[in-house]
Amino acid sequence: MADIAWDDEDPFEEQRDNAEDPMRRLFSVYGRPNVGTMVVGVVASVAARLLDLIPPIVLGVAIDAVFRDEPFSLWLVPGAWIPADETAQFWVLIGIIAGAFTLGAAFHWIRNWGFNAFAQNIQHSVRTDTYDTMQRLNMGFFADKQTGELMSVLSNDVNQLEQFLNEGLNSVFRLGVMVLGIGGVLVYYNWQLALIALLPVPVIAGFTYLFIRVIQPKYARVRSSVGTVNSRLENNLGGIQVIKSSNTEAYESDRVEDVSTEYLDANWSAIRTRIKFFPGLRLLAGFGFVVTFIVGGLWVFTGTGPGPLTGELSVGTFVVFVLFTQRFIWPMAQFGQIINMYQRAYASAERIFGLMDEPDRLGVDADADALAVEEGRVEYDGVTFGYDEGERIVEDVDFTVEGGDTLALVGPTGAGKSTVLKLLLRLYDVDEGSIRIDGQDVRDVTLRSLRSNVGYVGQDAFLFHGTVRENITYGAFDADEESIVEAAKAAEAHEFITNLPEGYDTMVGERGVKLSGGQRQRVSIARAVLKDPAILVLDEATSDVDTETEMLIQRSLDRLTADRTTFAIAHRLSTIKDADTIVVLEDGRIVERGSHAELIEAGGLYAHLWGVQAGEIDELPEEFVRRAAKRRARTEADDD
Ligand code: ADP
Repeated sequence: MADIAWDDEDPFEEQRDNAEDPMRRLFSVYGRPNVGTMVVGVVASVAARLLDLIPPIVLGVAIDAVFRDEPFSLWLVPGAWIPADETAQFWVLIGIIAGAFTLGAAFHWIRNWGFNAFAQNIQHSVRTDTYDTMQRLNMGFFADKQTGELMSVLSNDVNQLEQFLNEGLNSVFRLGVMVLGIGGVLVYYNWQLALIALLPVPVIAGFTYLFIRVIQPKYARVRSSVGTVNSRLENNLGGIQVIKSSNTEAYESDRVEDVSTEYLDANWSAIRTRIKFFPGLRLLAGFGFVVTFIVGGLWVFTGTGPGPLTGELSVGTFVVFVLFTQRFIWPMAQFGQIINMYQRAYASAERIFGLMDEPDRLGVDADADALAVEEGRVEYDGVTFGYDEGERIVEDVDFTVEGGDTLALVGPTGAGKSTVLKLLLRLYDVDEGSIRIDGQDVRDVTLRSLRSNVGYVGQDAFLFHGTVRENITYGAFDADEESIVEAAKAAEAHEFITNLPEGYDTMVGERGVKLSGGQRQRVSIARAVLKDPAILVLDEATSDVDTETEMLIQRSLDRLTADRTTFAIAHRLSTIKDADTIVVLEDGRIVERGSHAELIEAGGLYAHLWGVQAGEIDELPEEFVRRAAKRRARTEADDD
């Protein structure tokens, strides 16, 4: 199986282990608010099933009346209501049967309404809660989990609950009423024959218990392999261009086949158990029916109970037994279906609640104060951080940016520049040291206030599916038209936007008009302008544009950054040479700091990088080239 060990790898194993008693939790947390619809469903279900019992009973009574040639009596119906005339009696019976069917249909309708409403409402709440939880989790979680796996919990697992909550519960009550109701009627008519008819019940219960034991782990494996398949597919669709251009279609087809085979195996193993179980149940149930038929038939023919059975069995009672045992046996066989649905729902609920219980490593304090920015002074104080435990990607970073100043972070790829800024946005928490904005530790203020004060323009400008306008106002939803256009103008985006087929109303993002990298970048700058944050983070904001656009954007950025604290990361050093302070990072540590002129003067790493970009490759000292090659080798090794 190539390089993938899917067999024993369940990305949600930890989560599943966390989730205790998921079904009880599903009912207590999500079922309780919807208990009204459930009660309606249950009451209607019981009523409908009881009404279903009426026609066979009436039939039995009618048959006995004919055979014995005597007037009949009915439960709950006063004798005075039953006419003496036989034809009239016939019509009364027809009336009762028709009435039972009509009323039954109405109750069936109400029951379906109740159970469906119950299932749909729960599903909706679970889905939105799971999404909310996921959105709250810190970035580390998303780095560990594949989008496809998360999608599979949000869609497949949540949908899986519906079947049990609707059909499953519905069947539980139907079965309950059938077993108790029919059982009661049968015992009332002839308790001895009833014992025989009910004989399969405990056997079926034992058989079902065995089934659960076997099928449960199989369903857990199916659910987890669905997640793996989804994430592989999602990954490959996202990377289709790379796959095509690398000629790796065959390799990827193999990988998809591997995960799909695992899914097939898992599913097939569950199916093998399931398809043996249901016929087995039917066989048991059918056997019970046949035995009842034989015993009852002999009893009617001979007029005395076979073997130890005593008393009399009328033809009408026998007919009721035959009809009821049939009705009773098949729902019993469906019991397995219910268990089956329950098991699947259980496996899904485990994954859902496991995800909901995923601890938020950021340790957000609900009572935290909002960040109050006055000057916009940012201090990094001995900041050390690693994505994994024990790792140090950024080490002992110290600097202060005065309000309104611009600080540029420079250094080779992988030096930790983006990481330093992610810590400011609190996508991760520092391991040691602290980051303060106007004296307030970013860990002591609400995330909401922090992120509304810090604007971010990153290197891959992501656009949501929607109009250009919606993408600009994202996060500042109530902005008016004038400020939107102003923001677009400031970002040098207005012109190209008005040239789009529908201007600001043009759909972009997935399935919309494709914008170039530079255009997307400018839309996201317009978004930042509109948000008007006190602190701005530009992470290679102009990396994706041509030199001319860069110049235009640079001009708008200069305006944007003039009166606010700005952090800028740029590969092209020309774009940051006017920064108040330039900090040079190497291997997560600050190796130089100062203004452009000072750093050039110092002749260190910055001066060499500047030299490279100015095309002075021949004049670089040997030591610099050697270290660059070493760094390169290291990042390439990391990538492998
Ligand atoms: P720069 O912005 O200077 O190119 P980064 O801050 O992006 O550097 O990355 C610094 C180091 O941290 C790199 O070695 C990179 O592989 C690692 N890194 C970046 N993001 C993550 C992440 N989400 N999880 C684990 N390691 C990461």
